[in-house]
Amino acid sequence: MSAPAPSHHALTLRGWFRLIAVGLVLVVLVGVVRLVGLEWRQFEQARLAKQAVQKLRVTLIAAEMVSRERGPMNGSLGDLSPNGDPVLREKLQKARARTDEAFDAYQQALHDAEPGKAWLVRHQLAMRELSALRLSLSHARAQVDQLIGRSPAERSGDEIRSAVQAMVDLVPRLSPAMTLFADEAQQADPALAPAVWGARMASELRERAGLLGSLFTPALTRQLPFTVSEHERIDEATGRIDELRHLMVLRVESSPTSDRVRQAHVHMMQRYFGHAAQLLNGVQEAGRTHGRYGLNPAEFAALYVPEMDAIVALRDAQLAEAEQHSIAARERSRASLAWLAGLTTLLMALVLVMLLIIRQRVVQPLTQAAEALHAMGRGDLSPALPVPRANDEIAAIMGGIEALRQQSLERADLERERDKLIETLREQSTTDFLTGLQNRRAFFDAAEAEMARARRHGFGLVVLLLDVDHFKRVNDQFGHTAGDLALVAVAGVLQRGMRQGDLAARLGGEEFVVLLSHCSLEAGMAFAERLREAIHAEPIDVGNGQTSLRLTVSIGLADSAHHGLQLDALMARADEAMYRAKHEGRNRTEWAGRMG
Ligand code: GH3
Ligand code: MG
Ligand code: MG
Repeated sequence: MSAPAPSHHALTLRGWFRLIAVGLVLVVLVGVVRLVGLEWRQFEQARLAKQAVQKLRVTLIAAEMVSRERGPMNGSLGDLSPNGDPVLREKLQKARARTDEAFDAYQQALHDAEPGKAWLVRHQLAMRELSALRLSLSHARAQVDQLIGRSPAERSGDEIRSAVQAMVDLVPRLSPAMTLFADEAQQADPALAPAVWGARMASELRERAGLLGSLFTPALTRQLPFTVSEHERIDEATGRIDELRHLMVLRVESSPTSDRVRQAHVHMMQRYFGHAAQLLNGVQEAGRTHGRYGLNPAEFAALYVPEMDAIVALRDAQLAEAEQHSIAARERSRASLAWLAGLTTLLMALVLVMLLIIRQRVVQPLTQAAEALHAMGRGDLSPALPVPRANDEIAAIMGGIEALRQQSLERADLERERDKLIETLREQSTTDFLTGLQNRRAFFDAAEAEMARARRHGFGLVVLLLDVDHFKRVNDQFGHTAGDLALVAVAGVLQRGMRQGDLAARLGGEEFVVLLSHCSLEAGMAFAERLREAIHAEPIDVGNGQTSLRLTVSIGLADSAHHGLQLDALMARADEAMYRAKHEGRNRTEWAGRMG
């Protein structure tokens, strides 16, 4: 009996377990990698958005500084004192230094930027434009310085206008860069769009408001009404500023805005479109009619310029909002990543612990149990069973197998005992199990007693040793069972022919012995011959219905009258005689006393 070996095509339990363990770990890993990838992308996008907002800020500030520089520049150009007002000069130098600083910051930001492929060309264009812009700036400044260096009388109106226009023309050239960074921020995070474009609009409003202010300077200097062309240019500038105002109101009302931006918006509306607008209305009214303004350019600038700060404040509020938004987004992504890492570690730990438990408490014990059962099937009871780790179903199985093994061990013990018992019984038995005659041991016991009686009472004995002739052939020809039947038949003839007091036994194999008590040599010889013939005459049933088998025997005979009353000697002499009978052709009786 042996356990069926697992087929080579089917996976064992252990194989399945490995497969599922690897699969499970892979599935968890793939899921986690995907999630981490998504979160990481958002994290990166937030970083890019923040960078874009910062670039936009420095660009807008650079533009603002160019606008601001125009204030002291106009002041210096309009300065009529013969040697130039040092206070005005100082203001101009400071403004220029601030502009340079802003351009440096912008240049640095462009230099530090790591734009994606999609933005690379536009970044390169912005870089190139910046170099050109700085060159134009220094040309424009040189033009201004040249004019300031002359006496006021030598400065022609056309030259002043040309110098001012050169400065004014600089700001629109920053527009492509502003659009680029606003686009970049919006694409990295669409939620930034309102704030970013709001800041861009505020910046444009600041520029337009500055230009509008400077349009009044000539009329205020002359203290005369506007010329026709001044009229047109002022109307045009006011129109664009109104347009921007509408757009900005619309934006604040239509998109979700932080309180800070809303407040900055309200403040700007009050300051610029309230106070400053009032001032402008008065000036425009005088310019369209009598030309008596009641203030000179410097006084006008002192009132007008501070009101524009509210526009810049709105711009900065929107930029700050955009920046905070991107920082918060980045923090959220960072937190998500941290959570994800924690949860993944936990999940992997759980999966591994689960697999470990299943492996240690189910798969391994079952595998060992299977091996132990397999060995038990082969009769090997030695393999140790795993010690159960818990009082669970597996422990029950182990208990069952252990009980089975104990039973098998007990049964094996019993079988050994039984075999020993059978052996002992066989040894102790006096009867030959095949023929029912006495066996060798019993014969010798009984024969020795009979010899002793013969010696005491002085009667004669004869010993016959019989050996079936060519018995091997019987076995070979008809089989061992037929041979057995033949031996039983011979024993039957022996038993039938014996008298009371005689002994007959099977010594072993196909050899028999007969002890005739109270018998002479002659009577013994006659008995032997009768026996030989009777055996030959006995039809042997070999088990297939045929009765044709006939046996012959060779007999050796020794008698006590000639060979003494010692059993060993008598047996030995009879044996010799029996071998002589074989030698002389078999199927005969030989007396041990006959001289060869
Ligand atoms: P020989 O005439 O010289 O005695 O030849 P043989 O074949 O009888 O003698 P041998 O000793 O060569 O062979 C004896 C055979 O008897 C061999 C053995 O197989 C067979 N034999 C011994 N005991 C038994 C038994 O109990 N039953 C059967 N069927 N055969 C037995
Ligand atoms: Mg023999
Ligand atoms: Mg024989």
